[in-house]
Amino acid sequence: MRRLVSSCFIWLFVPACAAAQAAPELKVRADFPNGSARVESIDQQSRTITIQPHPQPERGWVCWWYFKVEGVQPGETLTVQVVGSGFTIPDRAAYSDDDKAWKQTEPGEKRKDRITFKQKAAGKEAWFAWGPPFALKQANELIQRWVKDSPHASAFELCKSKDGRAVPGLKVQQAGVKDEERLGIWVHARQHAWECGSSWVCQGFVEWLLSNDASAEALRKKATVWIVPIMDVDSVERGAGGKNQKPHDHNRDWSDKPIYPEVQAAIKHIAAADKAGRFDLFVDLHNPGPGEKQPFFFIPPAELLSVNGRRNLDSFLQACRTEMRGPLKLQDKPKESGENYDANWRRISKNFVRANSRDHVVAVCLETAWNTPHSTTEGYQGVGKELGRAMERYFREATRGK
Ligand SMILES: [Zn+2]
Repeated sequence: MRRLVSSCFIWLFVPACAAAQAAPELKVRADFPNGSARVESIDQQSRTITIQPHPQPERGWVCWWYFKVEGVQPGETLTVQVVGSGFTIPDRAAYSDDDKAWKQTEPGEKRKDRITFKQKAAGKEAWFAWGPPFALKQANELIQRWVKDSPHASAFELCKSKDGRAVPGLKVQQAGVKDEERLGIWVHARQHAWECGSSWVCQGFVEWLLSNDASAEALRKKATVWIVPIMDVDSVERGAGGKNQKPHDHNRDWSDKPIYPEVQAAIKHIAAADKAGRFDLFVDLHNPGPGEKQPFFFIPPAELLSVNGRRNLDSFLQACRTEMRGPLKLQDKPKESGENYDANWRRISKNFVRANSRDHVVAVCLETAWNTPHSTTEGYQGVGKELGRAMERYFREATRGK
C-alpha cells in the first residue's frame, strides 16, 4: 500500500514537473527597425519582463520603446514593467499579437519609477510598444497601395536621409480646376520620431483624401496635396526618440541653413509652390505632452500674421472646430509658440513657413493627444479624416484673402 501511494505520487508528480520545465523561456528582442528596449530583468517564474527604452541620448529623448516577446505560452498573462516617467509611460501600452493590428492594454499600475501592464497573449509571440508603431516599411507599403488603388495618387521621393534611406512622399490631385487656380497643401508627420500617433493621423488623412467621400473629391479637384508620413526616418528606424537630438531636432531646423535633408527638401518644395502662387496651407503633425487629453493646434505668434493671414487662420480654426468632433475632440483654443515658448521659435516649421510664404498662407501644427483610451490606430485615423474634412470646409466656405 505504501509502495503504491509513493509510486502514484511519483507518477502524478513527474509529468506536472516536466510540464513546468517545458514552459518556454521568455525572450525579449528589439533588434528590428524602430525597435527599442533595454532589458532590466526577466523573471521566468512570474513571467515578468522589466525594460526601459534603449538609451541613445545623442538622438533625443529616451522615451520610445517597442519590443517583441518570444517563448510565450499561448493564453498566458504576461507582466510588463517599464521603468521611466512622464513621456515614457503611457497609461495604456500598445499591444499586438501579430505586429500589425494594435490595441491598448488595460491601464497600467504606476509606482514612482515605473508602470506595470498585464496582458493576456494569444500566440507564441507578443509585441509591446509605447504606442502603435509606424515605421518606414509601413509608410512605403501604404504609399505603394495608395498609388496602385487610386488614379489620383503618385509617389515621390522627398530626399535621401543622412543615413541614406529614401524618404517617401505622396502627391494627390485630381483633374479639376485650371492649374493656375489650384491650391497647394503640405502635410507631414514625425519631425519627432517617438510621436508615432502623428503618422497614424497622417494615414487617416490620406485614406479619407483618396476615398469616395464627396468632400474629399472636391478637395482633390481644387488642390495639390503633398504628404510625407515620416520626416525623421533615421531616428524612427533606429528606435530613437528624436526630440531634442543633437545639435537640434527637425522641428528646430527650419532656417536658411537646414542640416537635415528632409527639412532642406521640404523647404524647397514649399518655396517653389509658393513662388508659383500655388501654396495655401501647411500642417505639421505631432503628439503633445502626456497630460493633454484632446488635440489642439499650435499657431504662429501674432507678429507673423498680417490682417489677411490672421483672418485665414481664424477661418481655418473655425472649420476645424466644426469638423473635429471626436471622440478625440479638438480643444477650442489653440496655443501659440512664439518667443515665450522657445528661444528658437523662428526655426519651428510652421513659424518658418508662415514667415517665408505669401501672407495669406495658413501654417499650423496639430498636436493629437496620445494618452487617452481613444489614442488608438482608429482614433488617430479619425482625427486625420476630420482634419481633411476641415480643410475642404475651409477652402469652400471661408472668404480667403489670397
Ligand atoms: Zn513633436
